[in-house]
Amino acid sequence: MPKYKACRICKALTTEDRCPICGSTDLTYNWEGIIAVIDPLRSKLAQSLGYKKQGIYALRVR
Ligand SMILES: [Zn+2]
Repeated sequence: MPKYKACRICKALTTEDRCPICGSTDLTYNWEGIIAVIDPLRSKLAQSLGYKKQGIYALRVR
């Protein structure tokens, strides 16, 4: 299983060196929890947490 890094800006998870959502390179292994956002426009949870694009995100980033 690949080690995911979380973006400190938008909390997206990625295995790359650059965030696929916002393009930031400020990534960390220090995160907890996973949330998959399938349809951010319909998901109240995704909206309340500020996830605007489809993808997988960390719930908490330190
Ligand atoms: Zn990001």
